[in-house]
Amino acid sequence: MPAKIINGFEIAKRKRVEIALEVEQLKEKGVTPGLAVILVGDNHASRTYVSNKQKACQEAGMYSLLVELPESVPEAELLEKIRMLNTDDSIHGILVQLPLPGHIDETKVIDTIAPAKDVDGFHPINIGKMMTGQDAFLPCTPYGVMVLLEDSGIDIPGKNVVIVGRSNIVGKPSGQLFLNKDATVTYCHSKTKNLKEHTSKADILVAAVGKANFITAEHVKDGAVVIDVGINRNEAGKLCGDVAFDEVAEKAGYITPVPKGVGPMTITMLLANTLKAAKSGK
Ligand code: NDP
Repeated sequence: MPAKIINGFEIAKRKRVEIALEVEQLKEKGVTPGLAVILVGDNHASRTYVSNKQKACQEAGMYSLLVELPESVPEAELLEKIRMLNTDDSIHGILVQLPLPGHIDETKVIDTIAPAKDVDGFHPINIGKMMTGQDAFLPCTPYGVMVLLEDSGIDIPGKNVVIVGRSNIVGKPSGQLFLNKDATVTYCHSKTKNLKEHTSKADILVAAVGKANFITAEHVKDGAVVIDVGINRNEAGKLCGDVAFDEVAEKAGYITPVPKGVGPMTITMLLANTLKAAKSGK
């Protein structure tokens, strides 16, 4: 039987309505959640991501501030801008769109964002809190994956979860969130030997590799839940994930499509984190 499709687009839409309602209630108490997005340079993809985030913010009734800085901006000037936003009461969340130009140290930039405004969940304080199971801003994509599973009624405790990919923004935090929910977690990466041996044992398989059609039916156990985080272009230039959707959907129990799977959840969780930041001051 073909897999059930986890429709991230519909789930995200529903969550955004809930967020907008809460924003409205908060505004009645005199607080408008505010998100500042810093865009350095003129990278086309970054500009698209930023404008999508701004649009979502406005649709949720939040205040959205775009800070545009030239590609050549000195690192010190960017850090100063972040410090100003850290103390700006109209701003509850700060996001610096990555990647940054080569002369700027991304680690320093992330470390400068006040942890209480780090709605991307990349600051070491938030990562440490997440690791130790404390309340934290969770990184948006892994957080979105967990909400997709929860919303789809998929149980996590005791499950074998295999994450393919170990980046700091997707793979590693995803595994940690599953561990926090009592899963048994395996991380795979480019040095993993016999990848299939690992992935075929997964009750829940998360692909965060960045390679089109990388996960095929032979990697997947019958009835597994397959979460495709990848966003790639195939040879025909069409948007696709890391999972060979058609063949894997024949074997899996659940699957997320690309587009309309994990992608829409990432911005939704950014809104959720911004709302949480705004509420925490109240
Ligand atoms: P990275 O390039 O930072 O990480 C890719 C990971 O895949 C690395 O850990 C790498 O291993 C691993 N990998 C590469 N080749 C192989 C292989 N042959 N076998 C096993 N593992 C391999 O990517 P990101 O984590 O940032 O992103 C992953 C994908 O998710 C991308 O397509 C990206 O566009 C997408 N993405 C989607 C988001 C969304 O909102 N849906 C948000 C963020 C990302 P190693 O560490 O050994 O190099």
